[in-house]
Amino acid sequence: TTNHEKIIGVCGCVAQEEGAKLLKRFPEIDLIFGPDQIYRLPELLELVESTNRPAVATELINTAEDYHFLDAVPATRLHGPTAFITIMKGCNSHCSYCIVPKVRGTEVYREARDIIREIEAMVERGCREVTLLGQNVNSYRDPKAETSFANLIRLIADNTNINRIRFTSPHPKDVKEDLVEEYAHNAKLCPHIHLPLQSGADSVLKRMRRAYNTGIYREKVAKLRNARVDLAMTSDIIVGFPSETAEEFEQTLSFVEEMQFDNIYAFKYSPRPDTEAFALEDDVPLNVKDERLSRLLTLQSKIAKARNEAHLGTMQEVLVEGPDKMASGRWMGKSGGNKVVNFTGNAILRGDIVNVEITKANANSLEGRVGVHG
Ligand code: SF4
Repeated sequence: TTNHEKIIGVCGCVAQEEGAKLLKRFPEIDLIFGPDQIYRLPELLELVESTNRPAVATELINTAEDYHFLDAVPATRLHGPTAFITIMKGCNSHCSYCIVPKVRGTEVYREARDIIREIEAMVERGCREVTLLGQNVNSYRDPKAETSFANLIRLIADNTNINRIRFTSPHPKDVKEDLVEEYAHNAKLCPHIHLPLQSGADSVLKRMRRAYNTGIYREKVAKLRNARVDLAMTSDIIVGFPSETAEEFEQTLSFVEEMQFDNIYAFKYSPRPDTEAFALEDDVPLNVKDERLSRLLTLQSKIAKARNEAHLGTMQEVLVEGPDKMASGRWMGKSGGNKVVNFTGNAILRGDIVNVEITKANANSLEGRVGVHG
C-alpha cells in the first residue's frame, strides 16, 4: 500500500543540473533523476513508495563498466520501420555555449556486439532503418575492441539485415578518412549527413571552441561529397553569439551560400548558466539576432528550394513510413537523403522500400509516384 496516487518525477538534463534544488522550488516533486540514472527507475520508484520521501539520483556515470545503456526499443514498442539506438553518451568536447558535457558527463561507448544484437532484434520486429545516436556520435570507439565509428557502421551493415543506417549528431572534427570511405563503399549508409557548422566565421568558431575552422570544414565536406555525389547535407547554425559582428555574420551567410545545405536548423544564441560562454556578455541585441536569423532563413529557404528542385525527374529510393496524413490514398516516406516524400502508388505497405519518381518539389518536401520500373 502507498500514500501516493501519483508519483511526480522530473528527469533529463534540467533534473541533472538542478538536482535537489528543484525540491525547494517544487515540493510536490517525489523523484528527481538524471539521464545516467534512468536504468534505476524501478528501484527509485520503490524507494519513493517505501520511504514516502523524495528521492534524488543525479550521479554521473563515466565508465563503460558501470554505465547501463538501455535497449532503445523494448520488444513490444517498435512503431513503424525506423528506430533509434543510442551508441554512446556524454561529450568530451568543450564548446563554450554547451551544457551537455556538464549534464551528460564524459563519453561512454556501448559495445559494438551489444549494438549489433539490438539492431538484429529490431530487424526481426520489422525495423528497416536505424539511426545511431550520440551527443558526439562519430567519436565512438568500441570500449573493448579496436572499433572506430566507421568500423561500427561497417559491422552493422555486414552483420545485420538492416537496410539503411543513419547517425546523428557527428562533430566535424571527428569526420575521419575511414568514414569518408564508408560513404564511398557502404550502400546501407544513407546518403545524408547532418554536420553542425554553428558559424561561418573563424573568429566566432574560435570563441565557440568548436575545434575546427571553415577551411577544415570545407575540406571535409568536399571529401564527403566526392565520396557520395548524391550526399544530402544539413546543419545547425547559431546566430548572435556574444560579440558577433555584422562582418562575422556576413561571413556565415556567405559560407552557408557556399555550402549549399539541404536544410539548416538555425537558433538565436541564448546564454546557459554554467557554460563558459555564460561569462561573456550576451551583447547582440535581440532585434539584431532576430534580423540575422530571418536573413539566414530566407537565404536557406532559397537554397533548399533549389536543392529540392534538382530532384525533379529523378528516382528516389523511399522507405515507406505510412499513409500521408494530409492526403488520402497517398503514402509518406523518406528518401536516402532524408527528405520527406509524399507519393502515390499501388499495393504499397509500410516498411517497403520503393523507387519513387519525383514530380514536384516543395520547400520542405518532395512529391512523386512509384515508378513503373520501381
Ligand atoms: Fe559536445 Fe556538441 Fe555540446 Fe559541443 S555542442 S560540447 S560537441 S554536445
